[in-house]
Amino acid sequence: GNGGAALTAKINSLISENTVIVFSKTTCPYCTKVKNLLTDLDVQFKAVELDTLAGDEGAKWQEALHAKSGQRTVPNVFIRGQHIGGCSDVIKAFDENKLVSLINGEPATGGTGAGAGDAYDYDLVVIGGGSGGLAASKAAAKLGKKVAVCDYVQPTPSGTTWGLGGTCVNVGCIPKKLMHQAAIIGQCMGDAPSFGWKIHDLPPHDWPVLVENVQNYIKSLNFGYRLALRDGSVTYLNEYARFVDKNTIETTNKKGQKKSISSNKFIIAVGGRPRYPNIPGASEYAITSDDLFSLPYHPGKVLCIGASYIALECAGFLAGIGIDTSVMVRSILLRGFDQQIAGMIDEHMESHGVKFHRGWVPTEIKKVGDGSPPQLVVVAKESNGDKTMEVAVNTVLFAVGRDPCTNTLNLENVGVKVNAKSGGKILTTSSDQTTTPNIYAIGDVALERPELTPVAIQAGILLIKRLYEGETTLTDYTKIPTTVFTPMEYGCIGLSEEDSKLWYGDNVEVFHNNFQPLEAALSKRDENKAYCKLVCNKADNNRVVGFHYLGPNAGEVTQGFAVALKLGATKADFDSTIGIHPTTAETLTTMTTTKSSGASATKSGC
Ligand code: FAD
Ligand code: NDP
Repeated sequence: GNGGAALTAKINSLISENTVIVFSKTTCPYCTKVKNLLTDLDVQFKAVELDTLAGDEGAKWQEALHAKSGQRTVPNVFIRGQHIGGCSDVIKAFDENKLVSLINGEPATGGTGAGAGDAYDYDLVVIGGGSGGLAASKAAAKLGKKVAVCDYVQPTPSGTTWGLGGTCVNVGCIPKKLMHQAAIIGQCMGDAPSFGWKIHDLPPHDWPVLVENVQNYIKSLNFGYRLALRDGSVTYLNEYARFVDKNTIETTNKKGQKKSISSNKFIIAVGGRPRYPNIPGASEYAITSDDLFSLPYHPGKVLCIGASYIALECAGFLAGIGIDTSVMVRSILLRGFDQQIAGMIDEHMESHGVKFHRGWVPTEIKKVGDGSPPQLVVVAKESNGDKTMEVAVNTVLFAVGRDPCTNTLNLENVGVKVNAKSGGKILTTSSDQTTTPNIYAIGDVALERPELTPVAIQAGILLIKRLYEGETTLTDYTKIPTTVFTPMEYGCIGLSEEDSKLWYGDNVEVFHNNFQPLEAALSKRDENKAYCKLVCNKADNNRVVGFHYLGPNAGEVTQGFAVALKLGATKADFDSTIGIHPTTAETLTTMTTTKSSGASATKSGC
């Protein structure tokens, strides 16, 4: 009818008046993804939110758009009058480096290179010598490319600095796991009397000895990395880099001397650093994970602020070696992880001496006494209220998230777009290319990539294969296994139970079991507190979409099962796998209790 014609005319004029127009719905995650991408690219666009139109108008618009473009779903995107399609079409155009040229009405630039290689000092310069950067630079040099890696550590506010290798080796995974092991040894000593060892009281723990040994081990790794670069013919520059133009960086060494280096391609792998909240006393008196593992004196009474991986892992091992430890939680524990298991970790940590201040945020850190450690007071306020409190401690550890090291790289000079909300993480295509074709970004600095060492390493190695060996394999960022090294370790792969319900609704079936690790049976420690569950999709042959294991050696257990999930294992595949007895992991091959049955998840007998 006439109404239909009028609506079509209205839609046509909107499409012709706006270079970029997105017909969208406010609640649609795909629409949000497209709008975020356009925002990050600094593209001006018009969004028409169909779900905010009065009455059944939205449905009419969708009908008219269907008649016009053959597409009923949202987002429905038009650029310069041309129908582009939905979310995956926009992402594809971005991946192929065509999106911005389409919007600007220019011919597509595409490509990966920046012209003839021999006009530059290097074929490839990698900025950042951490997990991702070292892997990429060594792989490229092995293929005969002329490669340099710049790695420079800015000292923390308390002056801590370290050697080559990045976060994981110096102030992350490695020292963290060693200190976690110190706590496990303490736990074993607690169990020892039940096994006949005549230990009556736990001996005291010597913090400086632990720190010295951990730091000596790290120094040996730093040395090994330098040798590996030399042997692999990678030029190591202990210099801070920033961009001058898309083929040139300026580097600055410790003495402040600067030089200019040119390269055909760049990989940005600068990682991130711990964030300090913007409150009085934060960077003056508190420390972060960047300082903890080399703290030369006993930390005294510790308050960890934050409730994710880092805060909980640190609180766990500190309490495990006998340190008076508390955690200040703003909202929930382990956001993004399975919340049933987060609750179990909470309970377990609390029963092992970690104190929790739930629903508080710090507002000020005051120093009330000198010394090593000093005497500090943390002033805090309720997250959802006005009450305040003060906590007296000796060490405050912030673990409230990490910021990417992109602020001083001059990225705006070279057209590399970042996402403001994440503190400046770099936008990359699914092949790790930035918005400037000869510049790539991998690891923690790249937007929407899990912040994990093996992720950065694999991204680096596969990128080099694509750049120089003609391969096409992309890094698969799904079903990535991970483990939280809390006192009761937690390994997971795939979806949390909550997320699986968003995707599969009523088709989700959960198989679960509590179990008692034999290791702790004689001492009756943590009776039946270990737990595992498989989250399955009934509509797809009970394919396992979420794997969760809370118990000893979770990293080792989870790594093995990760292969099965990657291959698409179903519950029947788990059931037909013969267990290894007596282990904790065998529980996963014998699970019969479903959550929907409401039956007890506690396993009994052999
Ligand atoms: P990084 O390893 O951070 O390396 C970046 C390097 O670039 C740094 O050396 C930095 O100084 C340097 N740099 C920065 N800017 C410049 C510049 N402009 N010029 C020159 N150099 C520059 N992951 C796991 O998989 N398992 C774990 O158990 C685990 N535990 C962790 C525990 C803690 C406490 C922390 C903080 C992290 C942990 N992680 C863990 C995460 C892991 O450490 C990171 O995901 C990984 O190190 C990221 O590697 P990357 O190459 O992206 O960056
Ligand atoms: P996250 O960003 O994961 O978590 C930040 C935590 O701090 C949240 O609990 C958040 O609470 C809280 N928070 C944020 N701001 C404030 C504030 N102003 N006051 C109080 N609390 C605040 O950061 P992490 O530093 O823990 O970890 C960074 C990444 O490092 C992880 O995502 C992980 O990928 C990696 N990592 C991996 C490990 C492993 O593999 N075992 C170990 C450690 C780290 P809220 O939920 O309310 O926002």
